[in-house]
Amino acid sequence: MARFAFISDVHGNLQALQAVLRCIDEKGVDATLCLGDVVGYGPNPAECLDLIAERDIFTVQGNHDLSIIDDVEAHRFNPTARLSLEFTRGQLSESHRELIAAMPRIADLDDVTMCHASPVSDGCSDYIHDQQIAALAYGGFTNHCLFVGHTHIPIAFGTPEIGYAAVDPKNVRVAFLPPNLPLRLDCRYRYIINPGSVGQPRDGNPDASFGILDVSQRTFTVHRVAYPVEQTQAAIIEAGLPNFLAHRLRLGA
Ligand code: ZN
Repeated sequence: MARFAFISDVHGNLQALQAVLRCIDEKGVDATLCLGDVVGYGPNPAECLDLIAERDIFTVQGNHDLSIIDDVEAHRFNPTARLSLEFTRGQLSESHRELIAAMPRIADLDDVTMCHASPVSDGCSDYIHDQQIAALAYGGFTNHCLFVGHTHIPIAFGTPEIGYAAVDPKNVRVAFLPPNLPLRLDCRYRYIINPGSVGQPRDGNPDASFGILDVSQRTFTVHRVAYPVEQTQAAIIEAGLPNFLAHRLRLGA
């Protein structure tokens, strides 16, 4: 039975993406799926989009991806994100913009729903950080699992409630996902799962994060991969992007 790797929030960090794809190849999966924000912040947006396309990795559209082709989304950005957006737009070709435009905001694959941020509202903005926001997001899907990115934190929520409605936050459990510790998926629960970020982790661990869903074992396991952070940092400085973007990679913040 199938094993699927979930990656998210690559953010133009080619060294991290290459390291994660190598690790996924070693572990062996049936398919790799991407939860959006391939570009933004990082120095190699074009190369990351090319690699995703070359490997035929199905990708839903993140807010940073959307901002490349949508000025309304771009105007929601903070100053650092705006600076990196100008740089990123300058790096991408018409065919990159077509790739981004073709990404769906939300997708159902078997018993799994994928979107970048949340399936309620426009699917591109809410941060599922806590039980309150997770409870609302349960109103946006009926599948067994929803996979999201956006917060850059490996985390899972679970509820026994079913149906197409927001659930009671008191019935939502939460667990941070440490590496190499499988989360057992109870078939009586519905889950919201975030595999963490490939290219800009924000949980205090600078190693690139991704996860593997094992359908027959009914588990989801996060993996962390060290990569040459200093190479990405040098490329950020070289590109003239804000120093802060290089600094945060070392901190995982
Ligand atoms: Zn992101």
